[in-house]
Amino acid sequence: MALSRRQFLRGGALAAAGAALGGKPGEASVDAPEMRIKGLKSTTTICPYCAVGCGLLVHTQDGKVVNIEGDPQHPINLGALCSKGSSLFQVAVNERRLQKVMYRAPGSDRFEEKSWDWALDRIALRMKETRDKSFKATELNKKDNKEYVVNRTDGMALFGGAGLDNEECYLWSKFARAMGVGQLEHQARL
Ligand code: SF4
Repeated sequence: MALSRRQFLRGGALAAAGAALGGKPGEASVDAPEMRIKGLKSTTTICPYCAVGCGLLVHTQDGKVVNIEGDPQHPINLGALCSKGSSLFQVAVNERRLQKVMYRAPGSDRFEEKSWDWALDRIALRMKETRDKSFKATELNKKDNKEYVVNRTDGMALFGGAGLDNEECYLWSKFARAMGVGQLEHQARL
């Protein structure tokens, strides 16, 4: 069958398109996301900054954070992050980040380095002292002039943070109630 010039060109174009669609893909670019994070461990977590709760992927190599980005599978942010969330890598890896306990004693003009054990013992001691000083077992209700059991301390308040997940918030609130703390808040509401 004789082909016209137009039929020949149309047939060639279709053949080229078919080859392009069904052909072997080219080599992946080094800019492709799967190449950029190849060999890295990927861990999901939640942005600690605000109550939106965007999902993150943290990439680590030999236990060190090498990249943080939005989690495309997360239903809240679908991989997007605001400017604060986008700067999280600098929070994790930053030579200016304070990583030791620095303590300034009352009246002192300088900070001194302390161990975490020292800090935790001191926090526990101060909380116990404060609770013991301010604990009320009962309180007078002025409306009916009766004494009611309250088992409460007004001497301290506890703050949770957006970095806490549901279960941690539950434990935090239970801890506060067990201590008799009624003033329990969350940083995202401030
Ligand atoms: S990325 Fe931005 S909007 Fe999302 S949780 Fe973090 S601070 Fe909030």
